[in-house]
Amino acid sequence: SAKDSGRASYHFYTEQMQIDAHERVILERDLRDALANHQFILNYQPQFDIKTNQIIGTEALLRWQHPTKGLIAPDIFIPVAEVTGLIVPIGHWIINEACQQLARNAEGFNNLTMAINLSARQFFQKDLLTTIKDAIAESGVLASNIEFEITESMMMMNIEETIDTLHQIKSLDVQLSIDDFGTGYSSLSYLKRFPLNKLKIDKSFIDGLPNDLDDLAIVQAIIGIAHSLNLIVIAEGVETAQQYDILTQHDCNEVQGYFLSKPLTSEAAGKFIKKYNPNLNSTS
Ligand code: C2E
Ligand code: MG
Ligand code: MG
Ligand code: MG
Repeated sequence: SAKDSGRASYHFYTEQMQIDAHERVILERDLRDALANHQFILNYQPQFDIKTNQIIGTEALLRWQHPTKGLIAPDIFIPVAEVTGLIVPIGHWIINEACQQLARNAEGFNNLTMAINLSARQFFQKDLLTTIKDAIAESGVLASNIEFEITESMMMMNIEETIDTLHQIKSLDVQLSIDDFGTGYSSLSYLKRFPLNKLKIDKSFIDGLPNDLDDLAIVQAIIGIAHSLNLIVIAEGVETAQQYDILTQHDCNEVQGYFLSKPLTSEAAGKFIKKYNPNLNSTS
């Protein structure tokens, strides 16, 4: 069950980060305070269409502005938020905030998308559908411009429930993508049963480009799978011109990475989009 795997990932977390029980209690308390005291922020990383070289949207990425420890990356605290269940109210905030930011970004622009990461616990939460529906209605964004990212390992926890949940979310007219594709335990026979729009090639494969022939083969294979299943394919973690060029040659649709832009604050993202996509102004 999701609960068991939550425990397992927590165990993994404690080993990895060597956080003891005492530190964990403090972290949990701090996370509760963080939500109440508005210490979470979202950064937004632009995503680009390779053919048109235009920004097609952004991915919302969570950060914690800790009062004494500074900016904390999500990999550090999301696993704890996940086991404690705090990811549910935090995730609720993320969905609302990202939708409202899209409404601001999209002002004067056509069809920008907002990609939002879902954690396992959030994904299997009964009221997720209502949360999404309300966030879309309150922000006034187009549902089809919202995209939810889930990982392969989440989807494989409980296949039938996953397929059912995916169809329910999809019925709201939002987009669905698989994050970190290629790193999880994925079954190609299930892939066609999931109502997906996009595969995100994990950064670990992009890192090896252009010299590592195994990574190149994997990237080509993922692009091939995506195209044959009529899915859009995006490369994550593109850091160099060489990587960008090889992805262009191999017909990848979209790219995201430091080569084009790091994740930006909401204000910087708004400015970046206006500067980068000047001709997309819909009012002209
Ligand atoms: P992810 O969803 O796969 O996000 C991509 C990560 O790669 C982000 O790290 C991003 O900043 C980083 N990245 C993008 N391009 C490059 C690049 O060219 N070079 C390098 N070195 N890194 C790049 P970040 O923001 O630290 O997030 C890490 C992970 O934390 C995310 O991986 C996602 O699994 C999770 N996460 C982030 N925000 C949220 C959220 O709002 N909700 C949930 N549930 N998870 C989140
Ligand atoms: Mg993601
Ligand atoms: Mg990823
Ligand atoms: Mg990741």
